[in-house]
Amino acid sequence: MSKKISCTFCRGTGKDPFELLSPISDCLVCNGKGQVEIETPAKKCVFCGGTGRNPLGARVACIVCNGKGSNFSISDQPCVQCKGTGKASDGLPCTRCKGVGFN
Ligand SMILES: [Zn+2]
Ligand SMILES: [Zn+2]
Ligand SMILES: [Zn+2]
Repeated sequence: MSKKISCTFCRGTGKDPFELLSPISDCLVCNGKGQVEIETPAKKCVFCGGTGRNPLGARVACIVCNGKGSNFSISDQPCVQCKGTGKASDGLPCTRCKGVGFN
């Protein structure tokens, strides 16, 4: 199953929120459409806190959810390795759950 949601990264505007290339650049996550399709069931991305933005600082999309703010997960079990945070000790995505936080 999949569903369309308003693009988290650009808040549905379809424009690059950081104006990285130019103020009229299209959002790289939704290609300017303002909506993205996600697989369901989906859970809020723990790696970026659902913002769709890379928490490591760069003004780019989250590397775990690709800027969508949520990840496909059929499990409700927090990852035993990162305890559901999605992060390894070095701040990179957990190698076991790939940053999703569940498995
Ligand atoms: Zn967008
Ligand atoms: Zn994310
Ligand atoms: Zn993990």
